[in-house]
Amino acid sequence: MLRIDLKPVFEEIKKRKAKIVLLQFPEGLKTRNIEIASELQKKTGITAVSSIDPCFGACDLAEQQARQVGADLIVHFGHSQLCNTEIPTIFVPLNYELEEKKLKGLAANCSEILKKNSIKKISLCSTIQYLGFLDFLKKEFEKKGFEVEIGKGKNISAGQVLGCNYSGISKGNDAIVFFGDGLFHALGIAFSQKNRVFTMNPLNNEIKELAQEKDLFLKKRFALIEKAIDAKKIGILMSCKKGQFRLQKALELKAMIEKHHRGAFLFSADLIRPDYLLGIDVDTFVCTGCPRIAIDDAGSFKKPLLNPDELKIALGEKKLEEYETEKFF
Ligand code: SF4
Repeated sequence: MLRIDLKPVFEEIKKRKAKIVLLQFPEGLKTRNIEIASELQKKTGITAVSSIDPCFGACDLAEQQARQVGADLIVHFGHSQLCNTEIPTIFVPLNYELEEKKLKGLAANCSEILKKNSIKKISLCSTIQYLGFLDFLKKEFEKKGFEVEIGKGKNISAGQVLGCNYSGISKGNDAIVFFGDGLFHALGIAFSQKNRVFTMNPLNNEIKELAQEKDLFLKKRFALIEKAIDAKKIGILMSCKKGQFRLQKALELKAMIEKHHRGAFLFSADLIRPDYLLGIDVDTFVCTGCPRIAIDDAGSFKKPLLNPDELKIALGEKKLEEYETEKFF
């Protein structure tokens, strides 16, 4: 169950005497859009406008829409602040509700597995929805005799991981313990650090070390990289979303591609979607926007879509063994 605390939103609306407020929801929360908009309108007297464009992260602030509708404030749900804002914005994280008993049980089971693997010092990390449980888990692991660190992170909260930012993981540990669900972030951690990675999933209670998943992921990515090795024309995609726009990176890639005597062509879009790429006569694409696009949506693109580091491997600038997660920080 997701918990949303609207109190800071009420306070901010009152403080700013806001009249029109633009609301941004992640896809998973759109079912509660009407409920939240109604409550805000009823309690504060504002006019709420809900942006219905897909929103996958705090990199995607609907500032242009806010200007167009004359909003005094943006309320961005589900993510924490990532970049500077030009319009006053309040970020409202969503937190899962988990019982202490469950957390204790998970920490105890995970401790046993870590001890069997002779691990003494761990780095704890998580995604935004579970971040509030890290301090509790830290104490639980410490009670079991582990040395536990929660990294500080650049542009993110302590211990937080994002698909483009793994700076919230402290270094110098025997292993990293990721508390969260899904494979994407866990794999991102595994390919951004040298340490062993264990996952503790509060949704299915599974605790395990990432091993086979890493090999399988690498095999799939290498199959795509291989297809791009002989590419003669390469399209470089830039997302114009505020926190994803990386012109410098795109220009560096262009220079690298041309050094290898291939054609390099720049493309820009707000949202990078498979159907937007149909009909573009290049052999392969490289994406400088959100690293998730090339990973999560790989099967939807008709031509290979690589992340920048993967293109380096395809062009022989880097070895496959040096495969790394694409990060912005
Ligand atoms: S760029 Fe991607 S991973 Fe990074 S915050 Fe945006 S949606 Fe999340």
